[in-house]
Amino acid sequence: MTQNIAIHQDEVAGKVALVTGAASGIGRAIALMLHARGAKVVAEDIDGSVEALARPGLVPVVADITQDGAAEHAVAVAVDQFGRLDILVNNAGIIINKLVVDMTRADWERIQAVNATAAFLHCREAVKAMIPQKSGAIVNIASYASYFAFPTIAAYTASKGALAQLTRTLALEAIGHGIRVNAIGVGDVLTNILDDVVEDGPAFLAEHGQGAPIGRAAQPEEIAEIVAFMASDRASFMVGAVVMADGGMTVTAG
Ligand code: NAD
Repeated sequence: MTQNIAIHQDEVAGKVALVTGAASGIGRAIALMLHARGAKVVAEDIDGSVEALARPGLVPVVADITQDGAAEHAVAVAVDQFGRLDILVNNAGIIINKLVVDMTRADWERIQAVNATAAFLHCREAVKAMIPQKSGAIVNIASYASYFAFPTIAAYTASKGALAQLTRTLALEAIGHGIRVNAIGVGDVLTNILDDVVEDGPAFLAEHGQGAPIGRAAQPEEIAEIVAFMASDRASFMVGAVVMADGGMTVTAG
């Protein structure tokens, strides 16, 4: 998959992108694909390993996206280093597997803070930078859990439902300024997101993905492809959409 990342070489040429959660998994694939296709990229992550992505036209920022001032700083880096901000990808996310009866308030609030509140703060600051330009694109990484549920993921489903509704509402507020806001309802992808909650996260996702009609989990680049399209001018008529990319998981009745 990775050898194909430059197919649409000019897809986002000349644009400046900010990607959260860019140190690993889907966010890393997004940052590298947007960069390979001509964008300047600010890659933000709490994990210092994001520094390894540094290269001409790609600037890492190590930050906890939930902290006051983090969104302002990340947008300022884009503007200071590259002169503008055209694309925001709210990708960073965390999950916890706990029954509601076992969940602490701190568990709940941390999931909302990363998956929903930080996305709101980054949207707000990005839109402020984009309004004077009269253009921009925001892509939020939602989930099939924006709509569907199973036991132990209440905090996650609530946060991803919030992200989908943030997407739709902001889309209505922003389109008059030429800014498109959309989201992707991602299915199982082979990443390390479950590493803190199950023994072998990628193996769990691989097995869970077999339950989708497509019969497998995705590679991160398969999601990055959709982000690159939705962030580009090729997606000029997409506004407030939450596009499913889940191997058919949310279509099947059983
Ligand atoms: P991942 O764990 O590989 O990557 C998430 C990244 O976010 C990590 O690099 C992590 O350090 C970063 N991050 C977490 N908290 C942060 C914080 N407070 N500040 C800054 N960075 C922070 O996971 P992934 O699977 O690539 O997840 C990316 C997105 O895709 C998430 O929003 C996730 O909910 C969504 N998603 C993933 C799947 C899947 O099966 N992997 C399915 C549906 C949706």
